[in-house]
Amino acid sequence: GDIFGKRKNSMGLNMNIESQSAEFFEKVRSFQNNQWQGGPIVNGKLVETGQRVGVTSPQQSTHQIGTIGWGDADLAAEALTIANGAQTRWSDTDVNVRAEALEKLADLLEENLHELIALCTLEAGKTLQDGIDEVREAVDFCRYYAIQARELMGKGDKMPGPTGETNELFTQGRGTFICISPWNFPLAIFIGQVTAALATGNSVIAKPAEQTGLIAYRAVQLALEAGVPGDVLQFLPGKGAEIGAYLVSQEEIGGVCFTGSTNTAQAINRALAARTGALVPLIAETGGQNAMLIDSTALPEQAVTDIADSAFKSAGQRCSALRVLYVQDDIADRIIELLKGAMQELLVGDPIEYKTDVGPVIDGIAKTNLEQHIIDIQHVGKLIAEAPMPDFTNNGTFVAPTAIEIDSISQLVRENFGPILHIIRFKRENLDAVIDDINNTGFGLTFGIHSRNESFAYDVAKRIKAGNVYINRNQVGAVVGVQPFGGRGLSGTGPKAGGPHYLYAFMTEKTFTDNI
Ligand code: GLU
Repeated sequence: GDIFGKRKNSMGLNMNIESQSAEFFEKVRSFQNNQWQGGPIVNGKLVETGQRVGVTSPQQSTHQIGTIGWGDADLAAEALTIANGAQTRWSDTDVNVRAEALEKLADLLEENLHELIALCTLEAGKTLQDGIDEVREAVDFCRYYAIQARELMGKGDKMPGPTGETNELFTQGRGTFICISPWNFPLAIFIGQVTAALATGNSVIAKPAEQTGLIAYRAVQLALEAGVPGDVLQFLPGKGAEIGAYLVSQEEIGGVCFTGSTNTAQAINRALAARTGALVPLIAETGGQNAMLIDSTALPEQAVTDIADSAFKSAGQRCSALRVLYVQDDIADRIIELLKGAMQELLVGDPIEYKTDVGPVIDGIAKTNLEQHIIDIQHVGKLIAEAPMPDFTNNGTFVAPTAIEIDSISQLVRENFGPILHIIRFKRENLDAVIDDINNTGFGLTFGIHSRNESFAYDVAKRIKAGNVYINRNQVGAVVGVQPFGGRGLSGTGPKAGGPHYLYAFMTEKTFTDNI
């Protein structure tokens, strides 16, 4: 049967079919010297602002791919007034109309696949494969939330009640959602937040990450083309410290949807608490100190492939990425030897080459922080391996995938969002302490376990406080509608993106009681 019910995830491309892949590469490359221009979109129109910022590629800081205008707090105020003015009308619009606009957006994203993938590689430094996956995920979010909204909001729920009285429960949008998205999934998470809020009848002010405004700008253009009204969806690229901070301190907002660092999520929480006005939800998805545990029954070759994919693919710049590997002592030397070999094979380089495994990190600040961490952590740990770096780096912000052995997860004093793996050996009799250590980080996003002892794997996976656990596979790349994604504790509020409960967080409910 069809496991997706009425919906299928998008198909992707088979890169092993030469004719398909050659044409695909050519089309993506045709955008390589494109100059994109973007800026704030308020009330459906591009706004010329005083501040125009050059956008360069992480893999080549001399390569400018376009410019983007940045908005400010005044423009944000104007956008919020317009969005609020449109929201009741949008919420009262038939849910099918809203869902159809999102489905049309999915089609337009697919039609513009090559340009969007080019932008993923050129603006965010994503590999081609990551770019392909990113567009698919964005498309899947549109279609998934469209169907969910129809199901959840299509009609009221009749409630039981005494004779003569009817009771019915309805859902509505909450108001204007402030959607603040990250650079690591500049299209998929941007689209995921915005479509969830729109599907449920909210207006939206979308604030993209500072580093990746152009791809978000294209996405908003397509959303407007798909039929989302210009007064309902406002786009405000600019400084987070100015625009984001302004918006989350306003009285007249309906909620905040944020993906990014734990620190910023906490700052948003404080800003929301400090303001007067409606009590509104924060839906936050942040990072993790994600662990994987390998016991002595694991298949070493499979485990090492999954370790390398989880820790180093996407240059480790996924919230879900593996940061701390626990290996049972009697298998540790073998795993580490194999891992060293696998790391020698990793191809770090230009993300637009399909064979590249690991592209650059997002910018110079990220590179500096990661390299400083590699230096600092070696005061308490031992360098195990570094992947070879490309010969020419064109001033790109590349960081070599690095593995370092440490004694305890408590030695990791900060999050590091990049291709750095920490390895800890453990003894079977200390398993309880290992589980406590992982849980005591306070984060709870992903956890992986490799073991051929099924009851052991399940027991450990159950005891780890994480939002997504993966047994005998890698721990990245959650699929919409298949692996609802998101964490707990310091890793986020839930509900899970791409899951059946996500939309509830964007709705408010209204009970009608009628004593006829
Ligand atoms: N959903 C992504 C994954 O499963 C991670 C999202 C993120 O990094 O925020 O790998």
